[in-house]
Amino acid sequence: MPEGSHQFQVGSIRCTVLSDGYYSYPAAWFFPNADPRDLSGALACRRLPPDDVLSPYTCLLIETGRHVALVDTGAGDYSATSGAILVRLQTAGIRPCDVDTVILTHAHPDHIGGALDPFGRPAFPHARYVLSEVEWEFWTGARTDLRALRIPEAARSNIHSMARRCLGPLRHQVDAVEREAEIIPGVWVIPAPGHTPGHLAVLIESGCEALLNLGDAAVHPLHLEHPAWENGFDLAAACAVATRRRLLERATAENMHVMAFHFPFPSIGRVRPDNVGWEWSPGW
Ligand SMILES: [Zn+2]
Repeated sequence: MPEGSHQFQVGSIRCTVLSDGYYSYPAAWFFPNADPRDLSGALACRRLPPDDVLSPYTCLLIETGRHVALVDTGAGDYSATSGAILVRLQTAGIRPCDVDTVILTHAHPDHIGGALDPFGRPAFPHARYVLSEVEWEFWTGARTDLRALRIPEAARSNIHSMARRCLGPLRHQVDAVEREAEIIPGVWVIPAPGHTPGHLAVLIESGCEALLNLGDAAVHPLHLEHPAWENGFDLAAACAVATRRRLLERATAENMHVMAFHFPFPSIGRVRPDNVGWEWSPGW
């Protein structure tokens, strides 16, 4: 069971990965277009169970000295095995009112569920909540269409209702961004569409070091080794695969550290090109 926190520096910026918990998904939801024999071989090779993926939820705390930012808020009460973010922040010495910036990579429940407290109010009362304008419009508009998700209808409907339930109360604190932008000094959001229409990656740069948080542009290290393997939660699968390639090429070319919300805790590592895709080396 993934838990705890892990602190490291990106130049002069202090970063801490915080585990919000985890959830177990059917493997077919994570790898809908993988050849079943290739998939079971790849999972067996890694000593992973054949039918289910135990998927960590990992948020990122960023402390610049002037700003306290949180990237993604975990799932809140969405499942019994998530919702630890406030406890993790407390352990890191951070109170909810200390957080001045919350960056939401996208509005899926595992990323936005912790944005509200149990009373339905913003969990971080003094924060501006940054997400993409496209994402805001997509979920709050009247024509949200999730039929392209390759997951059961009940799961689609949960995703939709959770996004609407969470975004409404945040409306007075939302700062919707339209393009690549520096949110606080050294922290950038980068449009990374496909998983959702307004999905964002987050880049932290300081000194000669950089960390690229992929958000959900890849949800399992197997999506790096097999970049053509899609994710059933991607709304526009071909666009998501192209985005993933673009981000990984940039990370490789610019020698960045990489983070991904659902990768094995502590969810940070390096990527190196191999024959078909990229190899994941966990750790800082
Ligand atoms: Zn996710």
